[in-house]
Amino acid sequence: MEFTEKEIGSEAARLHSKMGTLGWNLQNCQVIAPLTLEINLLKKEKNAVILAHSYQTPDIIYGVADFTGDSYGLSKQAAQTKADVIVFSGVKFMAETAKLLNPNKKVYAPSMDAGCSLADDITADDVRKLKAKHPGAPVVCYVNTTAEVKAESDVCCTSANAKKIIGGMKEKEIIFVPDEFMAINIARETGKKIIAWRSSCVVHKDFDGRKIDAIRKEFPGVKVLTHSECPPLVAEASDMMGGTTDMEKYVAKSDAPSFMLVTECGLSDRLRSEHPKKEFIGMCSLCPYMKKNSLALILDVLREGKKENEIKIPEGVAVKARKSLEKMFELSS
Ligand code: SF4
Repeated sequence: MEFTEKEIGSEAARLHSKMGTLGWNLQNCQVIAPLTLEINLLKKEKNAVILAHSYQTPDIIYGVADFTGDSYGLSKQAAQTKADVIVFSGVKFMAETAKLLNPNKKVYAPSMDAGCSLADDITADDVRKLKAKHPGAPVVCYVNTTAEVKAESDVCCTSANAKKIIGGMKEKEIIFVPDEFMAINIARETGKKIIAWRSSCVVHKDFDGRKIDAIRKEFPGVKVLTHSECPPLVAEASDMMGGTTDMEKYVAKSDAPSFMLVTECGLSDRLRSEHPKKEFIGMCSLCPYMKKNSLALILDVLREGKKENEIKIPEGVAVKARKSLEKMFELSS
């Protein structure tokens, strides 16, 4: 598609107003303006919606996304959308979740290589073996799992509702897959005995709790907000532990002078742009999977409706996996 200089100039100005504080100068914004213009036109033409996880890059979040948030918020958006086409800019299990909730819509993942160290670490067969070993213990799966694993689970959860769902279960012993650190953190907060799978997130597992003490000395009054996928020592040393939306809400409400977000860098970027008067201290890492998406890949799937990027789930798996998601909505509402 061809755009006039005026159209590109005004789109670049729009992008710059959102991303200037994140280091995007007007020239960079002019380079991506034809892409965002075309994507936004194609969205209207095809009645498509773009859901972007908070860990996506600013050009996606501010350039083309219709909704941005965590897995829970985006799965709710996916369940409610009236669009015919969903492009999920996140990782593959998130696009699968959107497809489970919208079996009659076309759902695309811009990059089919965007996996997740947690989702890739456990199979449905592993869950069946755990169930055989611990009969009677219900299985709670983190949303960071494949549809096949969800199909073997009683209920799904996200970092935003794991505590509520697990804490509210009548059983004392619960199987939780696949994040071991999250299992330990939730067990501490709920008093449940959790049988955990041994996997971790490549981004959150390496944060070091000892650095938090040094940051507190250097920045008096700083609030340390930690993702529940972090190691227990990091979670214990922080002021709040939860999902990315919990962190967003905490920052919005707090009048603390500064915040350290112990999670993927995308969230700090977003909040830095949305709360320019608040200070954010760096302690973040990039997720190599999340960063596989790009405006060019989003444009490709919208332009061509690429079959190889369309999410397909066998019906037998989808029916069972959907039940674990529906149970999550029921228990967390
Ligand atoms: S940040 Fe961790 S949990 Fe999230 S997609 Fe990346 S590897 Fe998976």
